[in-house]
Amino acid sequence: MSSPPAHGPGRLLVLAGPSGVGKSTVVAELRRIHAPLWFSVSATTRAARPGEVHGRDYFFVGADEFDRMVTEGELLEWAEIHGGMHRSGTPRAPVDEHLARGEPVLLELDLAGARAVRAQREDALFVFLEPPSWEVLVGRLIGRGTEATEVVDRRLATAREELAASSEFDVTVVNHDVGETARRLVELSAGPPVSRAGREAVPTGSSAPSGRSSSGATPAGA
Ligand code: 5GP
Repeated sequence: MSSPPAHGPGRLLVLAGPSGVGKSTVVAELRRIHAPLWFSVSATTRAARPGEVHGRDYFFVGADEFDRMVTEGELLEWAEIHGGMHRSGTPRAPVDEHLARGEPVLLELDLAGARAVRAQREDALFVFLEPPSWEVLVGRLIGRGTEATEVVDRRLATAREELAASSEFDVTVVNHDVGETARRLVELSAGPPVSRAGREAVPTGSSAPSGRSSSGATPAGA
């Protein structure tokens, strides 16, 4: 029988938020500063783009292999992307292996993915990334203003719905500054897996479960 590891398990952090809020920029910043976190690598059925590396950016698998992974329960969550053009999902085993080694793990997911993980993992801390204001988000979603009105309207309607989901999360971090947000996520990733009792106490250290702290982080009082 192997002896138990000297350290406790790491914390699972799930980062989600409306599209356009800057999740991938924050993750790029965490990588740049070599944050002490392991970043989950998704499996996908789409072809690799130039410069993408198997095992670093994605595990590029065929449709049959993806089917097998789904059937055998190897994915923590998965989704059809771009109206079913391809499928992508989070392999479960590497997440658990890294947590067992005491490393915090970060999953960057869309809302549906975060909800799917929430249904399975009580040990995860769910972080919602919020824009500094509605106007900032609109600016990012509209971009260069070359898109048709219906496309913009649809994006804004989706963003409004997505923003309303913040109350489902344990902590809200307002993305004022990418460096500050990355540091906050590193702080939140430290510590043991979240427990039901710990869920209200852990995130901000605030004693009021639904109070907004000065760092812009709000425990949702789940
Ligand atoms: P891309 O294929 O351009 O890298 O990503 C397209 C979309 O797929 C993005 O919205 C991204 O969030 C989503 N995606 C990538 N990996 C996963 C995954 O493992 N699970 C889910 N649910 N969505 C993913």
